Amino acid sequence: MWTATTVEELRRLRASTPGSVALVPTMGALHAGHVSLFEAARADGHAVMVSIFVNPTQFGPNEDFDRYPRPLEQDLAACRHAGVTGVFRPTVDEIYPPGQLECLVTVPVLADILEGAHRPGHFAGVCRVVAKLFNLVQPDVAYFGQKDYQQLRIIEAMTQDLAMPVRIVGRPTVREPQGLAMSSRNAYLTAEQRRQALAIYRSLGKAKNLVEADRERDPSVVESAMQWVLRENGLQVDYAVVRDARALAPLQRIEPRGLDVVALVAARVGNVRLIDNMVLKPPMNT
Ligand code: AMP
Repeated sequence: MWTATTVEELRRLRASTPGSVALVPTMGALHAGHVSLFEAARADGHAVMVSIFVNPTQFGPNEDFDRYPRPLEQDLAACRHAGVTGVFRPTVDEIYPPGQLECLVTVPVLADILEGAHRPGHFAGVCRVVAKLFNLVQPDVAYFGQKDYQQLRIIEAMTQDLAMPVRIVGRPTVREPQGLAMSSRNAYLTAEQRRQALAIYRSLGKAKNLVEADRERDPSVVESAMQWVLRENGLQVDYAVVRDARALAPLQRIEPRGLDVVALVAARVGNVRLIDNMVLKPPMNT
């Protein structure tokens, strides 16, 4: 497995890689969710390139950029173990050379709601770095997790509208045995907070049950039930909503027309902010 820290090294190593190349962009602190993306890309027959870059432009001024975990040796071992071909782990100055004028790629509407409303500028930072990584690595395909559902939709929209020659593959969320979605930020949780955080998965399960088994059609009934589960367990709710699965627009009613809906949650346990989601399939009327 090669590693590159500069753009020059990366371009040289990329040029000498035959066959189709998959890119998996990450911020490191790798866990089984990331590894599932590497393995899927390998199983699909691609040479796998992983970027490890804690991207400052997607963090707000009061967010956790400085304390975000950076266990580099462990991360490289995980990549090696998963059969990754190469790791690109640039410095901030390599990606954003001082003095260089910034360019913004935005997907208005989709990027302004939910995570975008709570983290202004977040998706502009994500799109900027992903577009840049696509240009640097020139992958045939890129793998993203459904864990970051809104991010996946935005990346799909960006590549489609700007005709970027990269196919986007979304992969299911990997969870711990009791349902907590794997996240690098779970490392911030105490044992007690970890237990509390399970309410996020339970609130999504509640939504699934209401929509799929009870055939509830009123989004506000489902959303109230989700919020109740979260608050009862002491979580601060940023949002707990049911939206249409493509545009993430609010729904008047949950209609069983074969279109999926998605339940999305952002909640804080102490000062740790977690997100999760679950796609729901409203049953057809019989
Ligand atoms: P991050 O390092 O948090 O930027 O995530 C890098 C990629 O891994 C993104 O495409 C995430 O959606 C994906 N990812 C993060 N957590 C999980 C998970 N639990 N299951 C599947 N994919 C994940």
